[in-house]
Amino acid sequence: MLVLFFCVVLHEYGHAIMARKYGVKTKDIILSPIGGVARLESIPEEPYKELFIALAGPLVNVIIAVTLSIITLSIYSGGIFPSSESLELLKYPSEFIRFVIVMNIALFVFNLVPAFPMDGGRVLRSLLAIKIGRSKATRTASLIGRILAIGFIVFGLLNSHILLTIIGVFIYVTAGSENKSVMITEVLSNTKAMEIVNPNYTIIDVDDPIELPMNIYLRGGEKNFLVTDHTGAIVGVIPELFLIDAIKNKVKGLVAGQRMSDKYTSLPEDSTLMEVYKLMSSQGMAIIGIVNQEGERIGIIDREGVSRFLEIRFSNSKAKKSPA
Ligand code: ZN
Repeated sequence: MLVLFFCVVLHEYGHAIMARKYGVKTKDIILSPIGGVARLESIPEEPYKELFIALAGPLVNVIIAVTLSIITLSIYSGGIFPSSESLELLKYPSEFIRFVIVMNIALFVFNLVPAFPMDGGRVLRSLLAIKIGRSKATRTASLIGRILAIGFIVFGLLNSHILLTIIGVFIYVTAGSENKSVMITEVLSNTKAMEIVNPNYTIIDVDDPIELPMNIYLRGGEKNFLVTDHTGAIVGVIPELFLIDAIKNKVKGLVAGQRMSDKYTSLPEDSTLMEVYKLMSSQGMAIIGIVNQEGERIGIIDREGVSRFLEIRFSNSKAKKSPA
């Protein structure tokens, strides 16, 4: 098991090192009983980069298998495959090495199954993306992945191969969410922040009682607020989370300034919604100000605005599709 995990770690390092070559950092590597994932900070838009990053992992398993095969062939007789399936034989170094070779071949083959989240899914998507563009490629790759997943599930159930069934279910779910996330990225990148900027927002003074935004929130109004000082300069924000917390704990007698966060920034009016979204998710910001070329604030976009926009966009696209 230790050696298996070690090979999986090396596989993930393959992805991470190739990603770094293209300037993409790896957040972390997660190891789970059914495999590892190197979580990259972003997936490069250029298909060939994604292709090489996806291939780098399985390539590591090929290198391990080939290296061990050369070693085995040069010091032992009897080929590179274990002489039987009996785990008893693993106590012999020669059999143990052969077992590790087979394990790496299995890792290579399994990871190249053309379905998300396996590397094969990314290979397929990037190859398709060269021809038909990234979003269409993702849709197609995700569909192929789901068909394969159903195949795994059915085959697993018929042959009482429970692990294969579980993997099938896992692939089915992941293939769908990969598709959704690419669609969201695309919609956000193609929308200007100006399209959903809210020019009518309540500004809370730093000395206003905290009950003021709490009441607006409770009555179904805005969910995130800007806080300014007496000169009108922004000094902080009160995000929805703080309000929920204040309401739950029946906070009384405080002023806005005592319950605010300093996470605020603004973006120019020609920014895309993707830039807004990235700031919100990476910096945990609840509100972003949108400013014109003179630097004057023309409005705000908060988390609520972005999620409502996505809800509308995705319900529309479903409604349009259903008659066909
Ligand atoms: Zn991989």
